Amino acid sequence: MKKSIKVLALILAAIMCLGMFAACGTGTADKKDDEKAPAADNTNDTVAEENKANENENEDGNEVVEDVTYEGTYEATIKMATNAAFPPYEYKEGDKFVGIDVEIAKAIAAELGTELDIVDMEFDSIITSVQAGEVDFGMAGMTVTDERKEEVDFSVSYATGVQSVIVAEGSDIKTLDDLAGKKIGVQLGTTGDIYATDDFGADFVTQYGKGADAVIALQGGDVDAVIIDNAPAQVFVSENEGLTILDTNYAVEDYAIAIQKGNDTLLNDINKALEKLTLDGTIDSIILKYISAE
Ligand code: GLN
Repeated sequence: MKKSIKVLALILAAIMCLGMFAACGTGTADKKDDEKAPAADNTNDTVAEENKANENENEDGNEVVEDVTYEGTYEATIKMATNAAFPPYEYKEGDKFVGIDVEIAKAIAAELGTELDIVDMEFDSIITSVQAGEVDFGMAGMTVTDERKEEVDFSVSYATGVQSVIVAEGSDIKTLDDLAGKKIGVQLGTTGDIYATDDFGADFVTQYGKGADAVIALQGGDVDAVIIDNAPAQVFVSENEGLTILDTNYAVEDYAIAIQKGNDTLLNDINKALEKLTLDGTIDSIILKYISAE
């Protein structure tokens, strides 16, 4: 039940992204839609727009997007930096990379007439690698933050992320306030790491290379809680006995693709591809494939 609600929230977030595509790219969490459009003047336009959209829908109700023209010319492959230890966004099945980001990135590459080449690395090396031009972009369930925006450019957002708290079943940590003075495990260089260090102090935070290692530490009693993104948290809790996720979210965030500063051609092309893949339902269907409603 709890899981279904979270899944529903994710689906709603994805649907909101369809409707407010431009707003999804601002990189600001917890957006509020306070401003209402003036009704009278816009009525006819809105109806006209809706009719136009309906004419262009396919049988699934998704918009059929006419051919998009991309600005760049791309080599045979386009390189993506990721950290393939973050299910369901990127992980390995045997020696194959799979996950939501992997499939979205492949769809973007196909749009740009090229193929995806994945370079697996530590999460906290991805931005440096993008900055150095060693890869074309970074995609790793990466949250847009003001600090990261100083280092790289971000595409429009393609998904909502939520920082969650995993504890042992029966733990005395029931709310976020109970985390004060407890030992918290995080994945090095992630927003979970940054926020936990800010809020509770570095002395109380242990950084692990992989989220899964933080979860093993929690099971072994080395830490009292793990702060990590909700989708991998759900996978880790389902795969490991005796763990549970607190009902309260620690933070709500936007995921986006990191691109070298100044590479506006690639940024624009990735944004155009993401917009097309959002409107035609590809992104929704990829997310639903990995985050099932059960
Ligand atoms: N969303 C988190 C961040 O951007 C974690 C991402 C990850 O571990 N792959 O910091």
